[in-house]
Amino acid sequence: MGKSEELFERAVKRIPGGVNSPVRAYGAIGMAPRFIKRADGCHIYDVDGNEYVDYIDSWGPMILGHNFPQIREAVVEACADGLSFGCATEIEVEMAEFICEHLPHVEMVRMVNSGTEAVMSAIRAARGYTGRDKIIKFAGCYHGHSDALLVSAGSGVMTSGVPDSAGVPKGCTQDTMTAVYNDLNSVKTLLEQAPGQVAAVIVEPVAANMGVVPPKKGFLEGLRSLCTEHGTLLIFDEVITGFRLAFGGAAEYFGVTPDMVTFGKIIGAGMPVGAYGGRKEIMEMVSPAGPVYQAGTLSGNPIAMAAGLTQLKYLYEHQEVYKELEEKGEKLYSGIEQILKEYKKPYHVNYVSSLGSLFFAENEVVDYTSAKASDTNAFADYFLAMLKSGIHLAPSQFEAMFLSAAHTDTVIEETLSEVRDYFMK
Ligand code: PMP
Repeated sequence: MGKSEELFERAVKRIPGGVNSPVRAYGAIGMAPRFIKRADGCHIYDVDGNEYVDYIDSWGPMILGHNFPQIREAVVEACADGLSFGCATEIEVEMAEFICEHLPHVEMVRMVNSGTEAVMSAIRAARGYTGRDKIIKFAGCYHGHSDALLVSAGSGVMTSGVPDSAGVPKGCTQDTMTAVYNDLNSVKTLLEQAPGQVAAVIVEPVAANMGVVPPKKGFLEGLRSLCTEHGTLLIFDEVITGFRLAFGGAAEYFGVTPDMVTFGKIIGAGMPVGAYGGRKEIMEMVSPAGPVYQAGTLSGNPIAMAAGLTQLKYLYEHQEVYKELEEKGEKLYSGIEQILKEYKKPYHVNYVSSLGSLFFAENEVVDYTSAKASDTNAFADYFLAMLKSGIHLAPSQFEAMFLSAAHTDTVIEETLSEVRDYFMK
């Protein structure tokens, strides 16, 4: 028995399921998760001394690779002044100014501690601003684990087969309407069913929690027009796409302007940070400026801000990173597509820049229903083979692969060679 197995045996006795977030569990695979000791660049090392090429990247934030020197140094420097004050600091102002100066659709921003909090708070602000209660989300999109959003949700809840969680009272979800991703008509119908009652449409501009599902041409633009027509706010949940597809996230990448946006882990470079922002008149509804209450003792924590702002500044000053990520994505994902074609495998690859998924599905994956048609047993077999070959993937068919600037062409070629060996059999 390895050290990961030993730790897992201990963990399941004291932590539900042995993990502090379900997406870490290898439940679908039927083994103990790898317990990680350290990571550097595009590599991650477990407690048993195994080295893997990491395609999880802490679920997105390690866009420059693990343990990026400037970020680590900024954190160490900030620590010297104390870990938390629970009071206003200069670096929070710098962070807010930096974001608002460079993202035209964000006039004001509030820092929180996770993506879940960011979305929950953005929805509250949208409801406060519009005076409406209902919201529309898409089946298979995940927006964190707040009660109102655990409806046909993606990510870990999709993997575990409980997209509508137990413990959520009906009252909390009665105003959540669910539409079909990539289907504008489904949104139009819901908006017409509840005229003047929908506060917001929230969407992952590239769905990445049912595996990666890109928006069809015109989908985001169509959402924009429908929302404008109905006086409904359009919220882009950019927890995965923000500062990743482009510095301005999906809003810049696709040229569609949301009313509000939510960010997560990337904004803290891996520290527990989230943020929500948008037009000034909406954000001025938030306390203490306005009547929508939202708070957080550790929000804008100075260490987290030091890490996050260092990463954002680096990305802004080195925007060639985005072109590189696009090229790396093309190399890896079209490479996998090519291998599938060569060995006549009926599976599909979806990708947008550095985000991608290999679906063990025979039909194209465009929404929740087509994603769910994937053969999760075939995925589990592939996952295990990849792990044995030193490639660390998310242990679920319904999660994305994340490339970072630290994944070199050589590493990508080595990965493709392992994928080829697997499908050659
Ligand atoms: N929104 C999206 C799009 C996400 O992918 C996630 C988590 N990956 C969240 C919200 C929730 O973020 P957190 O896990 O930080 O609460």
